This record gives sequence, C-alpha cells and structure tokens, in this order.
Amino acid sequence: MTVVIIGAGIIGLALARELARKGEAVWLVDPRQPASEASWAAAGRLSVSAEAEGPGGLFELCRRAAAIYPDFVRELEEESGLAAAYRTEGALFLYHSDAERAALEERFGWQRELGVPAVHLDAREVRILEPQVGAAGGFLLPGDCQVDNRLLCAALVESCRKAGVTFLQTSVSEVTWQGGRVTGAGLIDGSRLWADAVVNAAGAWASRIAAPGPPIMVQPIKGHMLAVATEGWTLTHVAQDDQVYLVPRAGGRVLIGSTMENAGYDKAIDPATISNLRTAAHRLVGRLAEATMVDAWTGLRPMVVRGGPRIGPGSLPGYFLAVGHYRKGILLAPLTAQLLAAVIGGAEPDPLLTPFLP
Ligand SMILES: Cc1cc2nc3c(=O)[nH]c(=O)nc-3n(C[C@H](O)[C@H](O)[C@H](O)COP(=O)(O)OP(=O)(O)OC[C@H]3O[C@@H](n4cnc5c(N)ncnc54)[C@H](O)[C@@H]3O)c2cc1C
Repeated sequence: MTVVIIGAGIIGLALARELARKGEAVWLVDPRQPASEASWAAAGRLSVSAEAEGPGGLFELCRRAAAIYPDFVRELEEESGLAAAYRTEGALFLYHSDAERAALEERFGWQRELGVPAVHLDAREVRILEPQVGAAGGFLLPGDCQVDNRLLCAALVESCRKAGVTFLQTSVSEVTWQGGRVTGAGLIDGSRLWADAVVNAAGAWASRIAAPGPPIMVQPIKGHMLAVATEGWTLTHVAQDDQVYLVPRAGGRVLIGSTMENAGYDKAIDPATISNLRTAAHRLVGRLAEATMVDAWTGLRPMVVRGGPRIGPGSLPGYFLAVGHYRKGILLAPLTAQLLAAVIGGAEPDPLLTPFLP
C-alpha cells in the first residue's frame, strides 16, 4: 500500500515510521524542514497528571501514551543511533497559598482514585528535592516524565529515512478522490501523488487543505517560550505553579513556558510576554533572575474547535486524520502512530480512540 502523509511534525513522523516499519510505501510531504513548527517549539513534557482537565477519554489516552513511551524511545534510539533525552525524575506542581493547595488537592484527588500517584510535599520536602525552588509546598508527580522533543524528532527523521520513507518538500493543496474513495494528494505545483491512503497530519494548518467531507476546524493557539542558561546549578524536576512551568534540559538550560494565545497564524515574539514569563519564573525560582536568556520562540498548537484530537478514518475510504493534538502532541505521538497505523492497515479502531474518531 502507498500512503501519503501531509505534515512532517511529530505526528506525521511517528506515523510514517510506524507504517514504513510495517512495509508500507510512505510519502511524507511538508513544505518546511521536518518538525520545524509546533513539534520544535514544544517543551517536551509528557504530562499525564499536571495538565489533566478531568477524568475521561483524553486522560486514559494520555495514560496509555505515557505507558508506551519508554519502549518507544528505546526502540527509536536503537534504530536511529540518536539519543532523545527521555527523563523520568517526574514533575513538581507547587503552590504558594492555602487556596492554591486546595485547588491542587482537588485536581489530584480524582487522579489518585484512578491510581495515578501525586505525593504531597511540605516546603521543607520540596527544598530537599529542589533546593532552588521557593514554595509553600507541592505535589510530586512521578509519572510526568519529559523528553527533548527536538532530539526526539531528529531521531524520528533518521529512523524514517532508514525505514525508507520518502520526504517530499512541498505543500499539499488538496486530497483527491474519485468513485467514492481517495486517490491521492494534489500538490501546490498542480502535480499529483497517487496513493491508497492519505493522512492529514498538518497540525494547525489541517483545515486549510481541501478534503472530502465536512471541514475539520483546527485553530492555532500560540505559545511563547524562552530558554535561560544557569551556571553551576540547575533543576532536576520539571517544576511548575499555576503561572509558569520550568523544564530542565541538558547543559544547564532551563525552558520557561508558556502562554496560550488566540492570535491566528502570527508567530511574532512579544518582548513584554517574554518578560512576564521571566517574572513568573523568578517567583518560583529566585535564582533564575541571575540566569542569562539564550533563546525565545513561539509555536502554534493545533486545537480542534470544541473537541479533543481527531484520530481515525475520515469521511471517505482511504482518508484519515491525525490532527488537533493541542497541548499533548509530544506525549500522544507514539500512541497515535501505533493506533492509527493499525486502522490504516484495516483493523477496527482501538476503543481508546472512540471519543476521538473524526
Ligand atoms: C509552546 C508550546 C509548548 C508545547 N509543549 C508541549 C509539551 O510540553 N508536551 C506536549 O505533549 N505537547 C506540547 N506542545 C504541543 C505539541 O507541540 C503539539 O501538539 C504537536 O507538536 C503537534 O504536532 P503536529 O505534528 O500535529 O504539528 P506540527 O509540529 O505543527 O506539524 C505540522 C506540519 O504540517 C505541515 N503542513 C502544514 N500545511 C501543510 C500542507 N499544506 N502540506 C504539507 N504539510 C503541511 C507544517 O509545515 C508542519 O511541519 C506544545 C506546543 C507549543 C506551541
């Protein structure tokens, strides 16, 4: 079978690898360098607990996604010969007041009932784990791991190349169909790729591609991030409060994020927004005020209007969607790839996908 995947972000890359390993011929089409949009901009948090909004389908999808991550990374590193910097120290969700603590007790209460641990720490216990953090207390979330998403995507690119995926640097303008089934993809220069299956994995741009059936409404949600360099100290855990999160990376870099802005496709960096993020970070870790800013950037999260991700068959045979991963695409990519590759191969969708079928 020949499959065209539109978009070489982490979702398209992970799916291309999965399909190519099953022996399918895969065209991965993107006008930009692979993983240079949201998948590059992300913080790499594999957050099941800290960002959970409530029990339900998305929470269960995230739990399964986190559970398969260690094996996914191990295999990917073996195949590609590249490290992805997967880290398992966990995350600290910190509070500064009784009201904030009460809100977190509520957030983690239902998770504990479902068997997801969140360990309360007083201020002294927080300082033992993270001496630089200033907080009244917090919760240790041992299951919230992290990965360096840029390294991970580089490993995916390498693995795809080794598995025979063909990268094509151009834009898809439409999904083509005839006689009630998809026939391929029309490219921006008017040429066409013939395929048995086409997958829309175009992130925040997914609704711009003409395709059969009702349009999928995906909206970009902009996020600002910055990186600082610490000298002689760093953090061990991902640390966050209700204003900001901090993600330690190799070599003393700490990422500071992020904002959620409805700003269309504008990716300009706003200095005032960066300054606000830095102020929030200093409140959590006073010593970050001494750290030098080394980079700042923005990215566009793909959010489905009124709903979670859309993963599964589209409106015509041969058309599939893998869009709208919003704040969870780094976490969900390996599982999305695994489950969708099975569906493309003819299997019934896994029940985990039921709430997310297009
Ligand atoms: C600031 C920020 C922080 C984040 N932090 C995290 C985090 O900690 N953990 C987490 O799990 N997630 C995080 N996310 C979310 C995560 O980055 C996304 O969910 C994920 O990257 C989406 O992947 P994608 O492949 O769908 O989209 P993208 O990576 O945006 O890739 C889409 C690709 O489609 C291509 N494309 C567009 N139009 C066309 C076309 N017509 N033809 C061909 N190709 C096309 C684009 O060029 C692009 O390369 C964060 C996002 C941001 C912005």
